[in-house]
Amino acid sequence: MKLFKYLLAVIVTLLFSSLFTGCADDYPEDLVIFTNVTIWDGVSTSMQENSALLTHEGRVLEILDMNDPDFPEHGEFVDLSDLYIVPGLINAHGHVGMARGLETGPDVHSEENVREQLALYARYGVTTVVSLGDEPQEAFSVRDQADFSADGLARLFMSGPVLNPSTPEEAAGEVDALMQNNPDWTKIRVDDGLGAREKMSPEVYSAVIEASHNHDVPLAAHIVYLEDAKSIVESGGDLIAHSVRDEPVDSELINLMLERDICITPTLTREISVYIYAERPDFFDDPFFLEEADPEVIEQLQQPEVQQRFTGEAADYFREALPLAKENMMRMHNSGIRVALGTDSGPPARFQGYFEHMEMEMMQEAGMSAAEVLQSASRYAAECMQIDAELGTLEEGKWADFVVTEENPFDDIRNLRTIRDVYIGANPVPGN
Ligand SMILES: [Zn+2]
Repeated sequence: MKLFKYLLAVIVTLLFSSLFTGCADDYPEDLVIFTNVTIWDGVSTSMQENSALLTHEGRVLEILDMNDPDFPEHGEFVDLSDLYIVPGLINAHGHVGMARGLETGPDVHSEENVREQLALYARYGVTTVVSLGDEPQEAFSVRDQADFSADGLARLFMSGPVLNPSTPEEAAGEVDALMQNNPDWTKIRVDDGLGAREKMSPEVYSAVIEASHNHDVPLAAHIVYLEDAKSIVESGGDLIAHSVRDEPVDSELINLMLERDICITPTLTREISVYIYAERPDFFDDPFFLEEADPEVIEQLQQPEVQQRFTGEAADYFREALPLAKENMMRMHNSGIRVALGTDSGPPARFQGYFEHMEMEMMQEAGMSAAEVLQSASRYAAECMQIDAELGTLEEGKWADFVVTEENPFDDIRNLRTIRDVYIGANPVPGN
């Protein structure tokens, strides 16, 4: 008798659940559906008008036409009429937690500082940042413990301290020690400081690359000169983390990068940041900058003794190198090398969030179409940083990280400034 009652209960439950939750469709429960919106999925060549983005548990389920006969009837509906959705922006070369305003060093190292910076990136639509070097240990804790979606923080990938061994033996030791933190990348600098110091030798960086690869971790290299870029790629490096700034890139470098499928992050705004504060920059009057910038930092950057720091040999060198850096970026782009959005924001006076928009605007001015810039800032950045299994496009199964704008960013990349909302894991980022 007991068994009969039990079976009856099971049958009744099944009947009711199919009546009330099965609906006419096969969609899961707990859908969040963003409706009546124009969407770029990060893959298509054009935007899809009058569409809906279906998400489930923070991930993309699919993009549907609003008139699709199978459109789900249940779910939480978020109306985005007259608005646009593009994938969340990915900064493939930033830095978190190393500075606070113009200050650096242990005094500013804290989880709170890292979190504040990730929240700032997120409010500007940068939903993922790959931090390439010199983060404090606290950043690893945030990376490993944060609930990025619930906390409204840009997702974080990072390299940890920039490695600087002097011998191949030291190289292996430094890499092994770093692996305790499970870094996403390793990072080195191949740079003589414009002749002021000795550059890491190919023998040493080859050893760092080999040791990193033994742990299945890719390596990003800071370079300035063409010859170093070639040598890094030949030695197995996985990312050229700045522009080539001394000579026009040639077919030898381009072919090497194409053969080995290596990307570049141009970091054009990094050059800007080296000299722009010698005088008061125009963007100090830009409302899009002022809505997040700390007035105290703006004030400090206008003090004559601070302005002085942005003059001299390095300032002159990088100011003069900027047009060439842009040309080199375009030469690579036109040759089919993937250019990933990367700014080097995060050190003092490289304003996180705002600089990513400035960088994208500079990429457009240099000759990329708005659609190409968007691709660099989403799908390509994810592919180049090897995080494309879950990020970079709005394809099924990936995180529903996206930016909602009022104007069409396909028409002009500056329209990304019309941010209405930012979502991470289909959850709205507070403060927009
Ligand atoms: Zn950097």
